[in-house]
Amino acid sequence: MNVLILGSGYAGLTVAHRIRGYSKTIDITIISRSAIVRENTIFPLLLTDEIKVEDTEFNAKEVMERKGVNFVEAEVEAVEDGEVKTSKGTFDYDYLFIALGGAYEENFEKIKGHEHAYMHHTLEGFLGLKKELKEAEDGVKIFVGNAKNSPIEGPSYQVALISEFLLRKKGIKGEVYLATQSPRGVFGPIPDPRISEIANKYFEKRGIRLLKGKYVTEIRKDKVVLSDGEEIEADIKSVLPALSAPKAVKEFTDDSGFIPVSFPSFSYNERIFALGDSAKGMVGPKTARSAMVSAENATYAFLKKIGIDVDKPYYSQGILCIMEGGDDGGIVRFDKNSKESVSFILFGKHYVTIKKIYSRLLVNNAFNVPYHASLPFI
Ligand SMILES: Cc1cc2nc3c(=O)[nH]c(=O)nc-3n(C[C@H](O)[C@H](O)[C@H](O)COP(=O)(O)OP(=O)(O)OC[C@H]3O[C@@H](n4cnc5c(N)ncnc54)[C@H](O)[C@@H]3O)c2cc1C
Repeated sequence: MNVLILGSGYAGLTVAHRIRGYSKTIDITIISRSAIVRENTIFPLLLTDEIKVEDTEFNAKEVMERKGVNFVEAEVEAVEDGEVKTSKGTFDYDYLFIALGGAYEENFEKIKGHEHAYMHHTLEGFLGLKKELKEAEDGVKIFVGNAKNSPIEGPSYQVALISEFLLRKKGIKGEVYLATQSPRGVFGPIPDPRISEIANKYFEKRGIRLLKGKYVTEIRKDKVVLSDGEEIEADIKSVLPALSAPKAVKEFTDDSGFIPVSFPSFSYNERIFALGDSAKGMVGPKTARSAMVSAENATYAFLKKIGIDVDKPYYSQGILCIMEGGDDGGIVRFDKNSKESVSFILFGKHYVTIKKIYSRLLVNNAFNVPYHASLPFI
């Protein structure tokens, strides 16, 4: 049997590890752009020099080949029902897992004036932002926000908090603006309103100017234009775009721009699964945790389908965000299934340490981390 996995991020590698954990004989091939994979959730700590670039990366090809998984470094060009066209030829499959993530660059380029801002998603974006923050002088104005329907704001919160910390550490006076798409403010989309009330107070106490219920419509050399027409003057601008699945899989997407799937199995049809940032209907924000959960669920569904017994439940999706904020950090959790609900927000410097430890675990194990603190799907 021939399993093809497209993408070697959190979702793609989780599928490969799990299938190999249950079967040594299934032929598994990963096709991905680069053998070098980066644990990007820890990127905000590049801004504070608490981590180096090399702390975030590992060679996925070496790790997976040691497990008997083929790894082809190639660009996926088009996916069809039955075969995948790549820069290194055409591949067929019995089962296909699409785990190509979200098209951040493609969508960032659609923002008018994007060349005047950084995108706090890629390594290049973080390194550019880091250089500018280092060179910031008295009176600097920093803007952090998202475009309309951008599916993850957590990184924006962290960049805003870290910017405030860096100014304070250098003894520089300046302004940090944070635009949140929800009128409720920080973590506004979480159904428990106490979370955003507590979060807003915390951000305001840190001196961050919250612009609630606003998204970025245009970026200019010295300002950002928001959805209500307000213009914010800013020297340093960092913005996350709306998202869609990459264009290589556009045959599979619907009007949302993502690949529709069934829950909890993340199956698109009898032999195709779509995972992580590429899939439609992921809970609220599109996160690494949800990507790994989607991969766990899809793998169990696949193994059951081919007659291999698995002893784990399907997981429900939720939100777990550990914030890095310079000399302080925080954690937010919202998880729910039909029987229970967990929701809290807490602050403390130790959450930064916890995040660093978790990131190291992810890197050292090539994303083979089985515990996601998720509730079972019931
Ligand atoms: C700064 C930052 C902080 C974050 N913080 C958190 C957090 O605290 N918690 C959390 O859970 N999530 C967080 N996230 C979100 C998380 O990183 C993403 O949701 C996650 O990367 C999605 O995983 P994925 O496997 O779906 O896709 P990805 O990790 O993006 O993997 C996609 C893979 O496909 C490959 N690929 C894409 N297109 C092609 C192609 N055409 N051909 C070949 N290969 C291709 C890529 O190279 C990559 O290997 C954060 C993200 C950022 C940037």
